[in-house]
Amino acid sequence: MEILRRPSLRDLTTLRLGGQAEYGVRIRSEADWDALSSFLEGRGLTPFCLGRGSNILAREGDLPLVLLLQAPGEGMEARSLPDGRVRVSADAGMGLGRLLAGLQVWGLSGLEGLVGIPATLGGAVAMNAGAYGCDTGSVLARVRIWSPQEGRQWLERDQLGWAYREFDPGRSGFFCITEAELDLEPRTPAEVRQRMRDCYRAKKGSQPILARTCGCVFKNPVSGPAAGELLDRCGFRGFFPGQVGFSRQHANFLINQGGGGANEALELIERARTAVLRSFGIDLELEVRLLE
Ligand SMILES: Cc1cc2nc3c(=O)[nH]c(=O)nc-3n(C[C@H](O)[C@H](O)[C@H](O)COP(=O)(O)OP(=O)(O)OC[C@H]3O[C@@H](n4cnc5c(N)ncnc54)[C@H](O)[C@@H]3O)c2cc1C
Repeated sequence: MEILRRPSLRDLTTLRLGGQAEYGVRIRSEADWDALSSFLEGRGLTPFCLGRGSNILAREGDLPLVLLLQAPGEGMEARSLPDGRVRVSADAGMGLGRLLAGLQVWGLSGLEGLVGIPATLGGAVAMNAGAYGCDTGSVLARVRIWSPQEGRQWLERDQLGWAYREFDPGRSGFFCITEAELDLEPRTPAEVRQRMRDCYRAKKGSQPILARTCGCVFKNPVSGPAAGELLDRCGFRGFFPGQVGFSRQHANFLINQGGGGANEALELIERARTAVLRSFGIDLELEVRLLE
């Protein structure tokens, strides 16, 4: 188990903001999970599973956290199911890009809409990431989780729950997803590739996917206009009072132009939330996870 002293959240998140955690722990093997329990014991620090940090806004300063950073794993495996679908297994630390590239080659369908999301598989499951009619919850067969109390265990689909950008492992307390299995539909590789290309083109045309961003700041309301539209109507599209602002391309995407600070981002988010509440009576809920 590799231990990092005071890793910077600025380096570990796509928004590139925030202070330092107390420790980071790189987990590469089964034995590392066992060692982790004793490392956490008695330190009085909060463990936090970090994927690619693509949905994180971390506060400035010293954060009393131990970041759990999982290695990408050896690769992915597939086996046919009696109902014709194919079950794919991968480690939670695997990048979504690598996973989707593999699914394209194998001609497996169900997650094409997630192309261009800079996540790990674990982060995509934990956030029930979704786009263009796909989400991880729809194809998840089972997950393996680790908790300090119970170690590692598999949870089957009927023990799990999902909602919009939420995943529920059916138990309370801290957990970390270590592996996931997904049931996917066989198609031709050409069909899967074409669908991924279409989704990527649509995403790139409507979202600033190459910027320093954490994706959508707010969840869309259950009904009515999307959060981006509400922010746009309140004048936040392309609004940059300093180095941090809302994208011109998509008003719900927060962007750090380079020299911004987390306090600046938090103030702007509060200002936008208040403006939408005053104008439309809608209290927007955060999608981005605050790390403090
Ligand atoms: C350019 C861009 C485009 C995006 N587009 C989309 C989109 O189309 N749809 C969408 O849904 N999201 C989108 N996002 C948001 C983000 O990518 C997703 O929420 C993604 O699932 C986060 O994955 P991550 O690995 O980066 O997790 P992180 O951001 O590191 O963590 C997010 C949350 O998941 C938890 N988590 C991470 N890994 C694990 C694990 N192994 N076990 C338990 N919990 C874990 C963290 O503790 C945290 O609470 C976008 C973000 C960016 C920057």
